[in-house]
Amino acid sequence: MQDAVTKPSSLVLTDRDGTLIRDVPYLSRLEDIQLLPGVASAIRHLNTLRIPVVVVTNQSGVARGYFTESFVQESHLLLNDLLGKEGAHIDRFLYCPHLSGAVKSLYDRDCTCRKPRSGMLKTALDAYGVLPSRAMMVGDSIRDVEAAENLGIMAYLIASDSRTVPSASAYIVSSFSEAVENFLVARNRVISERSSHAP
Ligand SMILES: [Mg+2]
Ligand SMILES: [Zn+2]
Repeated sequence: MQDAVTKPSSLVLTDRDGTLIRDVPYLSRLEDIQLLPGVASAIRHLNTLRIPVVVVTNQSGVARGYFTESFVQESHLLLNDLLGKEGAHIDRFLYCPHLSGAVKSLYDRDCTCRKPRSGMLKTALDAYGVLPSRAMMVGDSIRDVEAAENLGIMAYLIASDSRTVPSASAYIVSSFSEAVENFLVARNRVISERSSHAP
């Protein structure tokens, strides 16, 4: 995690499955982890700008007994290995292993981190000291959008052509990299407006 002394100017929050990697329902085998096109180069770009990238992912497969929490952690190590081969890295992984009424009693919890609730996003904002207005969230589910909107974070929804997801306020994009590009353009516009208004 980045040092709190060098507070970043922005923060990118991202869903994992179907956003960074190929969507495999309840992914439980490391060999199924496959980066989506353009993800590594977009993250590398954010890395060079020193904008932290934080994964916020629901992993109720843990509560359902499909895989363990250590598998989730292992999969995140592998994900960073794959990104590392392309000179990119994710700064932090937050996951929610819970589910209300789960078979695994340890994880049977009506928690505040499971998206569409915003607990993980809030944790990330607080950890880096970044305001919601300086952050973005990207995901492929309406739950991702809701979790962001609850906090006033700009939301990008990746909509595949096979399904139409209505959302009042999210930007619809076709990929993680498109969301990042759009966010960086919006961010630069704000920075240049600020400097043009400077005395
Ligand atoms: Mg997803
Ligand atoms: Zn949780």
